[in-house]
Amino acid sequence: MQITEIPVPDYERVIKAEDPESGLRAIVSIHNTKLGPALGGMRLWNYESEDEAMTDVLRLSKGMTYKSAIAKTGLGGGKSVIIGDPKAKTEAQFLAMGRFIDTLDGAYITAEDVNTTVPDMQVVRRSTRWVTGLSRDDGGSDNPSPYTAYGVFLGLRAAVERAFGDADLSKRSVAVQGVGAVGSELCRRLREAGAKVFVCDPKAKRVAELVETLGVEEIQDSDLWGMEVDVFAPCALGAVINDETIGQLKCKVIAGAANNVLHTPENGVELFERGILYAPDYVINAGGIVNVSVEFIEGGYNQDVALRRIERIPQALQEIWDIRDAENIPSSDAADRLAENILAAG
Ligand code: NAD
Repeated sequence: MQITEIPVPDYERVIKAEDPESGLRAIVSIHNTKLGPALGGMRLWNYESEDEAMTDVLRLSKGMTYKSAIAKTGLGGGKSVIIGDPKAKTEAQFLAMGRFIDTLDGAYITAEDVNTTVPDMQVVRRSTRWVTGLSRDDGGSDNPSPYTAYGVFLGLRAAVERAFGDADLSKRSVAVQGVGAVGSELCRRLREAGAKVFVCDPKAKRVAELVETLGVEEIQDSDLWGMEVDVFAPCALGAVINDETIGQLKCKVIAGAANNVLHTPENGVELFERGILYAPDYVINAGGIVNVSVEFIEGGYNQDVALRRIERIPQALQEIWDIRDAENIPSSDAADRLAENILAAG
């Protein structure tokens, strides 16, 4: 395996591996380990070029530094990408990836991500111990989605309280876009708290199940944007708040699980100017990473500790909204400011 260090300003280490035997081509980016070892998922993607893979891994690893800093996981930010066809992934590739990660001596810890699964991570585990998110039977923290949903629920409720002066969700309506692993669990919690919930998802069977079991109401994607609703909870795709959708919004709060909700930073400014309270994505959706981070505490994973730590998400959001109000800047910028302050303080 050929391993090459690539110097990148403002990044601690960026390393490329090429292994002709297994066909592995991968990059690990360790953005920042000031607060602890760099944790971040392993993404497998058919990148058109190495440059494209590099741009992605740099952007994602920096995002992980900010996310972990605010979530106070005691971890830093990193990410890895494998350049390859997700439909043609092999065991040899993941074993080689494990050997590559092992050469970094724990400075980078991996986990599942887009196009990689827990079974893939179990293969990686055979060649390195620096892998997380394995099943409970393997001493891991298991599927992060219910923990992400719990954090989103708590963050959404805090946003409602901030926007309406009252945390009572039974007075509120929420439109949830995407009822996958996180969205459906969020719906369950919202209904339990008495909220009126509207959902849209192209998976008709899933929607029908939730209509039946939870009493949510189905809406079409096209109805979502102009809808008179208190909260919009994006739980499907990124970039859904964009120049096309933003002008149509009638909600007072945006709080959901999706990553990279804002298409551009200017969209964050516009939300701020229009008085729509935004819960920054990487703060409100940190429950999963917080859960994983508990694998590193003394004595190993403990669910109670994970839940208590996830319950700090509303407090982090309040701090961000306080910065927003004090400095007159959008929540998205206030979140970055808070992360940078935490990093600077070490
Ligand atoms: P998922 O794949 O289980 O669910 C996504 C759902 O969105 C699917 O049911 C899909 O059919 C639906 N969808 C796709 N396009 C849609 C559209 N145009 N309108 C409505 N629905 C649409 O994913 P998930 O694990 O539930 O994650 C949801 C979002 O949260 C993703 O953006 C993910 O990156 C982010 N996130 C997830 C976690 C986690 O722990 N799972 C953690 C942090 C962030």
